[in-house]
Amino acid sequence: MPGIYIHIPFCRSRCAYCDFFSTTRESEATAYVAALCRELEGRRAELPHARVRSIYIGGGTPSVLPVALLRQILDCAYANYDVAADAEVTMEMNPDDIGPSLDFSEASGLSAVNRVSLGIQTFDDALLRLIRRRHDSTTAIRAIHALQAKGIRNISIDLIYGLPGQTLEQWERDLDTAFSLGIQHLSAYALSYEEGTLLTRWRDEGRVREASDELSVAMYNRLCQRAREAGFEHYEISNFALPGYRSRHNSSYWTGEPYLGFGPGAHSYDGDRTRRANLPNLDDYVTYYSSPRGGREGAVPCSYETLTTTDLHNEAVMCGLRTREGIDLNCFLARFGQSRLDALLAAAAPHLHSGRLIFHSHQSNPHSSFVTHHSSFSSLRLSESALMISDDVMSDLMA
Ligand code: SF4
Repeated sequence: MPGIYIHIPFCRSRCAYCDFFSTTRESEATAYVAALCRELEGRRAELPHARVRSIYIGGGTPSVLPVALLRQILDCAYANYDVAADAEVTMEMNPDDIGPSLDFSEASGLSAVNRVSLGIQTFDDALLRLIRRRHDSTTAIRAIHALQAKGIRNISIDLIYGLPGQTLEQWERDLDTAFSLGIQHLSAYALSYEEGTLLTRWRDEGRVREASDELSVAMYNRLCQRAREAGFEHYEISNFALPGYRSRHNSSYWTGEPYLGFGPGAHSYDGDRTRRANLPNLDDYVTYYSSPRGGREGAVPCSYETLTTTDLHNEAVMCGLRTREGIDLNCFLARFGQSRLDALLAAAAPHLHSGRLIFHSHQSNPHSSFVTHHSSFSSLRLSESALMISDDVMSDLMA
């Protein structure tokens, strides 16, 4: 079943490492939400009879919007799409936006939100200041407790490792704190230096240094170990969840399900061969969807891409290898045919030999097993020790 992504391109300030599309011009939020609702209304024909199983309000920072605007967005989504009663509805939030007035009751209009993804990044105050986050560790911990007190039973936090000067001990303290807080989901990413960010400029000027590969690997290994000890499943390269708490929305990206993305910079996929990318320009977006004749005047602020069979093959490899389930070989055979499967297995052979890739048999579903002279198996996946070097293996398996 499809998912809906709604982009809120506003942040109170810019973090030093971030290259996401967002702006600090919060005064434009009301006009933006009106335009967003026009897009939500105008594209409902793209999911005519499909039930939506996840809504993800991301950014930017959705929690900078007043509750009335967040309510307007949710009301519009529910009015125009057939949203399942048990849909996962996630809102990204920053710890400094979670105060006593935040309310998820029926009266607030935000009662549909049943999952919060909190951008914490680290619990180390000096590192938080360095990367220009607005909160400190006390605020982050208070925010988690406040969400729990407000009845949110599914809390995910984001952490970053490999921050400038961060030691393995500091990272271990972050993990200890994270797993002591009663969260259900953790997304942990290695810091990447993106073009045009403040952090990249500092690195180029020699003011900060990148973490070594050895340290990054040690941090990742410690992450996997601590998550396992805390009872979290490592279900995707960067994602860990208690049983039953995997992100339904993000999982749909990795399993090739359709999704609609709304707002500038948001992407959509029809589940077949068409991708749509809304252009990352707030002014053009608002102008287009606010035009007097009910929106949709001038050039549509988006581009389309038609995926070739090779594109789809490569996406199946990339997305499959990111997940614990791996590449489902029966699905791969059904979608791409015997010759592509043979090529995939041939490319996989040296990595199977070295232990980077493993065959995996889903015992619970013996009918889906794929039988070769090697064994009976149904998927091909990365071993845990190879997750850090997944890019090398993925590129070898691409068409
Ligand atoms: S990391 Fe989040 S809060 Fe910081 S600038 Fe990027 S989108 Fe905004």
